[in-house]
Amino acid sequence: MQADDRLAAIHSRIAHAAKLARRDATDITLIAVSKTHPADAIEPLLAAGHRDFGENRVQEAGEKWPALRERYPDARLHLIGQLQSNKANEAVAMADAIHAVDRPSLIAALAKAMDAQGRRPACFIQVNIGEEPQKGGCAIIDLPPLLAAARTADLPVTGLMCLPPNGVDAAPYFALLAKIAREEGVAGLSMGMSDDFETAVMIGATHVRIGSALFGERASKGASA
Ligand SMILES: *Cc1c(COP(=O)(O)O)cnc(C)c1O
Repeated sequence: MQADDRLAAIHSRIAHAAKLARRDATDITLIAVSKTHPADAIEPLLAAGHRDFGENRVQEAGEKWPALRERYPDARLHLIGQLQSNKANEAVAMADAIHAVDRPSLIAALAKAMDAQGRRPACFIQVNIGEEPQKGGCAIIDLPPLLAAARTADLPVTGLMCLPPNGVDAAPYFALLAKIAREEGVAGLSMGMSDDFETAVMIGATHVRIGSALFGERASKGASA
């Protein structure tokens, strides 16, 4: 299948799930996760009109995206992987959205970089929704103070993000994230990947992050955070 056919197939699956949930499909942003894939795999999606892309690593994004953006200046880059505070400047300079904001030190570093650059990418607070020690994201109990810190620091908090536990039904975790977002007054929900995005859409996802279903399997599964 061509890239634009794969894109159309995903869009129609999103539209179907949205319709079942009585949602407007245009409220859902499809982020094409292009991590590990070279520019010539990304280009056909750009040519087909797709604009939202996700990368895990600041360094990899910095290698691929400046050249692509010269040709497609309206492309939007979402950084979805765990972010080190010492990469905050680079992240703020290149990202349109940062999906893995999960601790006070990172909030402080991002706020400093945003103030210095006068650029404010949308921020999603990542919640460690399955309370898994190996995963990024704040503990559920730490979310309220973290949200308060992000708002005080003038970070544009757009939503919450999660990566549910592998190998089990993701729906309860998506539902829990949606419930917490409602309680905290946060509108965006970055959740759902290739294997479970329709479920996520039915539960309220506003941003789905889809890699392998669009690009094919990655040679090495990019480190998920
Ligand atoms: C790689 C990755 C994705 C995409 O995963 P697929 O299963 O290939 O769709 C989504 N979110 C994050 C945070 C990722 O690291």
